[in-house]
Amino acid sequence: MSSSLRPLIAGNWKMNGLKRESAEELKSLIHKASEQNSVGCDILICPPATLVASMAELANGSPVSIGGQDCHANEKGAHTGDTSAQMLKDAGADYVLVGHSERRTDHNESNEDVKAKAEAALKAGLIAVVCVGETLQERESGQTLSVISGQVSRSLPAGGTAENLVIAYEPVWAIGTGKTPTVEDVADVHAHIRNDLQALLKDADGVRLLYGGSVKGSNAAELMNVAHVNGALVGGASLKAEDFWPIVETSL
Ligand code: PEP
Repeated sequence: MSSSLRPLIAGNWKMNGLKRESAEELKSLIHKASEQNSVGCDILICPPATLVASMAELANGSPVSIGGQDCHANEKGAHTGDTSAQMLKDAGADYVLVGHSERRTDHNESNEDVKAKAEAALKAGLIAVVCVGETLQERESGQTLSVISGQVSRSLPAGGTAENLVIAYEPVWAIGTGKTPTVEDVADVHAHIRNDLQALLKDADGVRLLYGGSVKGSNAAELMNVAHVNGALVGGASLKAEDFWPIVETSL
């Protein structure tokens, strides 16, 4: 791991997992973490909303934290099917992802929506993991850095600090595809985000920047070694503890 910031290795289970099998995977992960003399990184699992409360109960007192995958911008009200940040906190979550590209695409979420959700997360006492990333078309037309700058400046919550904010850079074309950018490309984008943050936040150097997109055991060490990469956001390879653990191990 390339910096002095405590890494965060986060798993996003997306719309996967039923009670029994998920509890087994989480217990296995907790067991692996608890066997260590010391755990040098933060470990986070974001299960589907139906499992947040039971997973948080299982993880209570362990080195694993639980987070939501999305939250509504409002605290409560007539929003059928949505979950508020306050509800996630009440269920035992410590974190919430906002602005994941699947939310931006499937639910047409704009940067302004993401900002409002991130602000709701902070208000509820959650750590907001704000996701940004360019599409393949944006990368191929040379717009990556300007797209990322726009997303960062427009999605960041007012009141964001190194304690309550994490940014995940996830190139859309790398999510679930098995493709990853070169380490040089990851380094460029992360340095660019760090630079942008310096103009936006007082404690910009303390904000953890995660890389996400087809991270697995075989490429994690190389990616986690890139400057300004302070952890990973992992989809597919987080579903099974035996696949996720080697990624966590790169940052222990
Ligand atoms: C994700 O969904 O945040 C993600 C990075 O997925 P995957 O690791 O499967 O590419």
